Amino acid sequence: MRIAIVGSGFGGLSAAALLARDGFDVQVFEKNEGPGGRASTYKEAGYAFDMGPSWYLMPDVYERFFAEFGAKPEDYFPLQRLDPAYRVYFADEKVVDVPADLEKTYTLFDSFEPGGAEKLRRYLDSAAEKYDLSINELLYRDYRSVFDFLSGRLIMEGARLHVFENLDAFVNRHFDSDEAKKIVEYSIGFLGGSPKNTPSFYHIMSHIDLTMGVFYPEGGMRAVVDALHRLAAERGAQFAFDEPVTRIRVQDGTATGVETTKGSYEADIVLVNADYPYTELHLLDERHRTYDERYWDKRVLAPSAFVVYLGVNRRFEGLAHHTLFLDEDWEAGFETLFDPEKAAWPEHPSYYVNVPSRTDPTAAPEGSDTLFILVALAPGLEDTPDRREEFYTKIMDDLERKLGEDVRSAVEVCRFFALEDFAERYHAYKGTALGLSHTLFQTALWRPSHKSKKVEHLYYTGHYTHPGIGVPMTIISSTLVARELAERYPQNP
Ligand SMILES: Cc1cc2nc3c(=O)[nH]c(=O)nc-3n(C[C@H](O)[C@H](O)[C@H](O)COP(=O)(O)OP(=O)(O)OC[C@H]3O[C@@H](n4cnc5c(N)ncnc54)[C@H](O)[C@@H]3O)c2cc1C
Repeated sequence: MRIAIVGSGFGGLSAAALLARDGFDVQVFEKNEGPGGRASTYKEAGYAFDMGPSWYLMPDVYERFFAEFGAKPEDYFPLQRLDPAYRVYFADEKVVDVPADLEKTYTLFDSFEPGGAEKLRRYLDSAAEKYDLSINELLYRDYRSVFDFLSGRLIMEGARLHVFENLDAFVNRHFDSDEAKKIVEYSIGFLGGSPKNTPSFYHIMSHIDLTMGVFYPEGGMRAVVDALHRLAAERGAQFAFDEPVTRIRVQDGTATGVETTKGSYEADIVLVNADYPYTELHLLDERHRTYDERYWDKRVLAPSAFVVYLGVNRRFEGLAHHTLFLDEDWEAGFETLFDPEKAAWPEHPSYYVNVPSRTDPTAAPEGSDTLFILVALAPGLEDTPDRREEFYTKIMDDLERKLGEDVRSAVEVCRFFALEDFAERYHAYKGTALGLSHTLFQTALWRPSHKSKKVEHLYYTGHYTHPGIGVPMTIISSTLVARELAERYPQNP
């Protein structure tokens, strides 16, 4: 059976590898010059930038995926656990390193507040238990109806997931100090949410970063993209780059192939990895859309971002591999992201700096650093060159003050990437970087469906679908779709 996959982000790549292994005839069409999607690569003057993801989290998910092919991630890229996992600059100039060793993290929390270690222990025990439940009962299962959702262990233990309590309230029940609260809350940014609009069971994120650890694949996330691309190509999947799909062909209610800028291709199944709203609103006729314009307009979108790729000809040791600069007014920051009334380029933004050259000498010329700076922004904001310049100045003023160093005089490469670029390069709805937030009613069975409700043989994978945002989640999404297709249409591998 022939499958046309639209897009070669982590969703398209992982699906292509699994389906080619299962005996399908797989052809992938990608609009951009190479594989990876949000995880594209940018290289200039000896500096190598991962344009999107830089945190390799949930190593168990990658292991499970490579095991499908009788392999381990380390067969493709060496993995290193980062220590410190990350550094945090708080607004009052306090700087802490969050260590890889959990015992040392407990000691760190004791320095934040009386009984901090014990409080963190309780918090992480709960996070570990919920992670185990989530991974087995929630993430690796697909949902068609509320009956699927409420079956099995979930119905027995669902109450303990505290689905109706938000993360912020949950954290406030556990910790008193600003530092402790911010360290257990910042990671909700990975899910494109705020502590107030994300259910508390996502405190599993602290099990993920503090207990399981933060890893670095040698060569950066592009090494992971290359590995998945290789896995798929070695099993016969064909890739066409620089070839956007312009239409999904539908005949008598069934998908029959795709049209691209270069030709027309027949397929028995079309699997879409490109952003869901773009696909439905631009590649399908109105009567074939599962979700209309109004539906998308009403969703809670995850943030967009202002990203700066900087190549600097000196090393800035004040920056760890991952460094977070957290603003004092945490709540106001989330309001500028999620409250439509207050959406704006923030006055005092929190931001994140990634320096892969701290760990990987191939990321920058000798004696230099590769810096990736990210500030989350509300989707749909006006994005102009002047606004970007102004914002860059604001961030660099703050960064230089906190580091006590002149960074701008060392800049050799500087590229901005913001809302308009996300929209143009990835067909991102309102320029969102991450897709759809993980509010309660955008989780599990309430996320857009893996299977079209209007067109037979039309499927979806990637960050818009269950289980959601992030590279591991996207890989799980494709695992679910590939499993369904292999069961429904068994092939001879
Ligand atoms: C700045 C940033 C930082 C992030 N940091 C992390 C992190 O540290 N760790 C982590 O795990 N996750 C992180 N994420 C999230 C993670 O990158 C995404 O959730 C994941 O990569 C999404 O993969 P996807 O395959 O669903 O979508 P995409 O990667 O967007 O893939 C979709 C593909 O479809 C293509 N496409 C679109 N339209 C068409 C068309 N008409 N025809 C053909 N192709 C088309 C696009 O070009 C793209 O290649 C980050 C994301 C961003 C943007």
